[in-house]
Amino acid sequence: MPPSQFIHSNCYLYSINKKHKLMKQFYTFIISLLLVTSSCQQNNQETAITSNNPLLSEWNTPFGVPPFDKINNNHYQPAFEAAMAEHKNEIDLIIKNTDEPTFANTLEALERSGKSLSRVSRVFFAVNGANTNDSLQAVAKIIAPKLSAHSDDIYLNADLFKKINSVYTQKETLNLTPEQQRLLEETYKGFVRSGINLDEESQTRLRAINGELAQLAQQFGQNLLAETNTTKVVVTSKEELGNLPASLVAAAAKEAENNGKEGWMFTLQRPSLNPFLQYSPNRELRKELYMGYAMRGNNGNENDNNKIVSKMASLRVERANLKGYKSHADYILSDNMAENTTRVYDFLNKVWTPALEMATSERDDLQAMLERDGIKGKLEGWDWRYYTEKVRKERFDYDEEQMRPYFEFNAVKDGVFMLANKLFGLTFSPLNNVPTWHPDQQVFEVKEADGTHLGIIYMDFFARESKRGGAWMNALRSQSKLDGNITPIVTNNFNFPPPTESSPSLLSFTEAQTLFHEFGHALHGLLSNVTYTSLSGTNVPRDFVEFPSQVMENWMSEPEVLKLYAKHYQTGEVIPDELIKKITDSGVFNQGFATVEYMAAAYLDMAWHSLKDTTQLTTSSFEKSEMEKIGLIEEIIPRYKTTYYNHIFGGDPSYSSGYYSYLWSEVLDADAFQAFKETSIFDQETAKRYRKMLSQGGTKPGMDLYREFRGREPKIEPLLRKRGFLN
Ligand SMILES: [Zn+2]
Repeated sequence: MPPSQFIHSNCYLYSINKKHKLMKQFYTFIISLLLVTSSCQQNNQETAITSNNPLLSEWNTPFGVPPFDKINNNHYQPAFEAAMAEHKNEIDLIIKNTDEPTFANTLEALERSGKSLSRVSRVFFAVNGANTNDSLQAVAKIIAPKLSAHSDDIYLNADLFKKINSVYTQKETLNLTPEQQRLLEETYKGFVRSGINLDEESQTRLRAINGELAQLAQQFGQNLLAETNTTKVVVTSKEELGNLPASLVAAAAKEAENNGKEGWMFTLQRPSLNPFLQYSPNRELRKELYMGYAMRGNNGNENDNNKIVSKMASLRVERANLKGYKSHADYILSDNMAENTTRVYDFLNKVWTPALEMATSERDDLQAMLERDGIKGKLEGWDWRYYTEKVRKERFDYDEEQMRPYFEFNAVKDGVFMLANKLFGLTFSPLNNVPTWHPDQQVFEVKEADGTHLGIIYMDFFARESKRGGAWMNALRSQSKLDGNITPIVTNNFNFPPPTESSPSLLSFTEAQTLFHEFGHALHGLLSNVTYTSLSGTNVPRDFVEFPSQVMENWMSEPEVLKLYAKHYQTGEVIPDELIKKITDSGVFNQGFATVEYMAAAYLDMAWHSLKDTTQLTTSSFEKSEMEKIGLIEEIIPRYKTTYYNHIFGGDPSYSSGYYSYLWSEVLDADAFQAFKETSIFDQETAKRYRKMLSQGGTKPGMDLYREFRGREPKIEPLLRKRGFLN
């Protein structure tokens, strides 16, 4: 059983359903977006378009999808303003209600509030991520501080909290359903975690810290962007490209052309950097790119991130202390499935030891290959990927490029649809009559086995300049039943190679895996069956959220499933057994490196956020001593080093003390898939229990949901076995 070939650390899941998270997540998204905006133009357009604004009118579209064809750039800002004002009025009405606070007039009223704002945010959020332009980015810049203040006005509102607290103190006597109890608990907790119980002085300090942290994060990201764009290498002879796949050679030629150079240009962006490190025989150029990448934000110039990180770490401790926690990690983890730092470290340590052992033995193989190449001396970091490819080729005669013809994107999409059909009986019919945000999008109606409507999925496959990098899912509408049966509308977004005149879009193995992964997030949204939007679908803790997505990758590479969808795009020939065997045989190859590189970053994140005093540290010596503590070998550097660790210091701070989540979720996905393997990978009883777990969204703690599904807590052995650390 081949494991994930890489960690999907590029996958961000945007869920903006949960009320107390909505504004914050939106805000952090905006911040991350501003980081990649090099030239924002002021939006001078008339902004008073509120009448006839399609974002604020009723949507008379099939299934109530957003009228993308009628929405233009100028509609967003006035819609945001109007929707925030409306939300504020709704909150005021809850506060001014003179009746005794009840679950209905407080919690449900709060749940019903902000519908317009949610609608505007979701559409803006989706379009700005997948098809942005200067005007939308200008709107983002203007609206971000307003949304932040709007959020603070609600979650630090003492009068509103008084009502919630009043209901909360009577919770035992109110005869609430389990889901209602959960909504009450989560809402109450959201206010407390925002700092509602602090005195005025502390709240003032809290707002100041939040503001400063947001600014520092923005500066961190801008510096990183500048540093990422400084190093570029140009290759002028074909030999230096080595066995670089044709598609990447073409991309590098285009990059050179765009920069007015002859030959092929490589940059510090991962899609360019990694293949170069894998395939170019030019050791000097490999070193130049590798060092350029590893030193970003650490060059002592105007883009240096050391002081920013140090300041952020100390502000986070101070904020945690204000809220009554010893460290930032304690604060974050108390709301996660892992609960505390001890459990995270216990977990990491269990995987680290065998992973490091395997990485060390991989190093010895690579060293031997280097020597056979006639190079004297030691293997270096910039040699690792290059010699890994040589060993892979020699040992398995396997090259990822051989797979592409069997992974035409429509075939892979049909594969994932077939899987959802075999497991849950779902069917997918194309909708050609609904508005989209880009003509490349495909839209499907999802139906139950008996034909009942379940939801809608928008799929946007190809890379383009208006789309940000990576792959992600978001919800344009979340499932709920508070006011009638509201069905979900979800999106999947990818950066697959666009079709050319001579070839359709052919995916690599990892890209095909990404399609299965994101579709798993989509299913989490589609299969939701709860009452309250705030608890619906993917509104689960950070360390549970990657479980329903990563689990799908297990099916993707099962021989039985591959044979269903992996068919040659020209001949229709089913993927040959010989190729399947190569995939299976090379499954755990290089997993020592992949695991160690990822885990070193997870440890580094935990180290920064377990700090308990606000003394500002020297970044590089702190990182060095932390890496020595875990015994990291010098040929491997953490996947993210401190000064370019955007996941925890830049755009989306929800990954701070949370980078371990991908591996944590993998424990769940490996153990869950094992449940299928014990019977059959399409076993209907297991699929039913699995669906039941997903359908409950965030209405129960993650571990409770898992226990109901599996009859016990997850075991770590399937993960260790999958990565080749256990026989
Ligand atoms: Zn994901």
